[in-house]
Amino acid sequence: MIDITIDTDGIATLTWDQPGRAQNVLNGETCAAFFAAIDRVCTDASVKGILVTSAKADFIAGGDLEWLQASDDAATLFERTCELHRMLRKLETCGKPVAAALPGSTLGGGLEIALACHYRVAADNARARFGLPEVTLGLLPGGGGTQRLPRLIGVQKALPMLLEGKRIKAVDALKLGIVDAVVNAGEEADAARAWLLGEGQTRAQQPWDTKGYKVPGGGISSPAVQQLFTAANAMLRQKTYGNYPAAASILSCVYEGLITDLDTGLKTEARYFVQAVLSPEARAMIRTLFFSLNAANKLAARPADVPVRRYAKVGVLGAGMMGAGIAYVTAKAGLPVVLLDTTQEAAERGKDYSRKLVEKQVQRGSLHAEQAEALLARIQPTTSYADLDGAGLVVEAVFEQREIKANVTRQAEAVLSPDAIFASNTSTLPITGLAEASQRPGNFIGLHFFSPVDKMPLVEVIVARQTTRATLAQALDYVKAIGMTPIVVNDSRGFYTSRVFSTYVLEGLAMLAEGVAPALIENAGLLAGMPVGPLALIDEVSSELIHKVNQQTRADLGVAYIERPGEAVAERMVALGRLGRKAGQGFYDYPESGKKTLWPGLATEYPKAATQPDVQTLVDRLITVQAVETARCLDEGVVTDPRDADVGALLGWGFPAFRGGPVSHIHRMGVGAFVELCDRLAAKHGRRFAPPALLRDMADKQTAFYER
Ligand code: NAD
Repeated sequence: MIDITIDTDGIATLTWDQPGRAQNVLNGETCAAFFAAIDRVCTDASVKGILVTSAKADFIAGGDLEWLQASDDAATLFERTCELHRMLRKLETCGKPVAAALPGSTLGGGLEIALACHYRVAADNARARFGLPEVTLGLLPGGGGTQRLPRLIGVQKALPMLLEGKRIKAVDALKLGIVDAVVNAGEEADAARAWLLGEGQTRAQQPWDTKGYKVPGGGISSPAVQQLFTAANAMLRQKTYGNYPAAASILSCVYEGLITDLDTGLKTEARYFVQAVLSPEARAMIRTLFFSLNAANKLAARPADVPVRRYAKVGVLGAGMMGAGIAYVTAKAGLPVVLLDTTQEAAERGKDYSRKLVEKQVQRGSLHAEQAEALLARIQPTTSYADLDGAGLVVEAVFEQREIKANVTRQAEAVLSPDAIFASNTSTLPITGLAEASQRPGNFIGLHFFSPVDKMPLVEVIVARQTTRATLAQALDYVKAIGMTPIVVNDSRGFYTSRVFSTYVLEGLAMLAEGVAPALIENAGLLAGMPVGPLALIDEVSSELIHKVNQQTRADLGVAYIERPGEAVAERMVALGRLGRKAGQGFYDYPESGKKTLWPGLATEYPKAATQPDVQTLVDRLITVQAVETARCLDEGVVTDPRDADVGALLGWGFPAFRGGPVSHIHRMGVGAFVELCDRLAAKHGRRFAPPALLRDMADKQTAFYER
């Protein structure tokens, strides 16, 4: 686990090499082995210097989250954390020089170990990332990161690393002073050794243990840092609305920790760390953004007996906004793409989208010119269906009209081999209906991408009535090949993501119709943790689109259609020509220069009620309406895995990460309590809040979606 060698120069090398895992992680076993190694080399008089490194491609990926969550006893967690601190203190104060040789990514606890060394050498490895990403999972660095990093590089440079969890490249880590040198890959251990035998012999001390040490850029009481904290506090509040306690704890750790000495600071950090580990926010974020996301990326839903398919060529029909994006991500993953539209100009325009994206990256230096050329060369714009010959998969992204989609399906299938998969990127039309145009409905599936495709990592995979298991499996192979995250849902109106997302915006509209002040609605959305208020969001999507979808659904369902409160508001906005941002006016005015402001005319259209509700009741409504619709999707079998529901919500429409997703939200409340809240809201606001049978049943049996 930790291999120890001592060479003739007296350099002890501690090599992390955890058996049976691709990455080294900190857990009970590895920590015990590392601590024993520290004890040994610190006390062995023949050791003149200590080198810490890894036998894997990366250094250490961070803490083992399963291990971290295994205990919910605060005292045990606190003691464990303090033990890590004691041992890292022992290492950095043992009087011998300590260097870290970092072959690859050095993240979280891995970086914290490296920071406890006196000297850090990183390999020039393009894949390697450095950072303290704990905050992105509702945690904070618990291995001294909040104390050593600001003491090393100053508060101003450390705060963004800690608060945003940024993962940076080796060159940037060098610029910030997080590593001391970057050398050719494979030479990092030699470079670290050379330092240990040379300069290290007179520098076996951390700056903060040196007499006269001052925090670079000023200590806590300096005016500049005081100002920094005032701004950081305000900015954090503005960004998170107090929903992410770990971020606030990080600020406290740095502030309180830097007022005192390192040892006291470490104790402060340990207390905040334990609090974060046990917080419901971290539990929810780790569940969804780590465990469930990993399961989705590993294709947990893929039928295992179907052979994996590798695609030699992919067709994309329609080179508009979505088709152009799909072509880009496919070509980026190394797959040749045939991009087809009705005219050559339209197809070329679709390819130009990729050109613009790669040109930007070349300018920024994140892509070589040759790589950009190769990517573009993989996209073949065309109007000829014959070019689809040999494609194993075709993704259709033409206009949202059934006849046009049926038409292109038939034309493509005339050329495609019988085992090729045909996928539709429709956002609203049920896949089973679209498959009626197909000669081989078993090969027909939905692949619902999100806009903008190159920034949104989710694909909602929609299984229609006749879709075969092989088609599902191999469509998932494509999603994985392009590096995106799939969730698998069964066909139904609005599928899963659009269906639940629409409840959020419609609830905002319902509130407006009730006479709730527009600003209050918007703030409730933000306080709930949604990225944008419901009215601003409708303006982005456009009231027209929402109205069209409602009309289409009404036409399709006939007498079975139940109008939802809020729909009439969208219709009214369309009648007023206030379609949304693209039209320059919607619920907001969009002046040519300056910020958007709520449209004053709303006051006449929807007069404010004399009494306004408490904002928390609005927050409850906006979140509950999404959670109960999600439960309905589970009840109806539209979604079968709660993990997919949670992952899809966070990645697909920005459901608040700290809640872990709509299912995690119910789980945190407890199904019984959630059902009670739904009943109360249903009595007051209507049956859209009524809990489905699944929830009542779970409440009766006191079962849960996830393990407690
Ligand atoms: P768009 O209007 O930007 O692009 C459609 C493209 O299809 C146009 O370039 C058009 O010339 C082309 N086209 C039309 N008829 C064609 C035909 N017969 N043969 C070949 N090409 C044809 O539309 P979009 O926003 O890219 O949407 C495309 C599809 O993706 C729609 O089904 C839409 O519902 C779905 N979708 C859109 C979004 C979104 O946010 N825009 C998100 C998910 C899914």
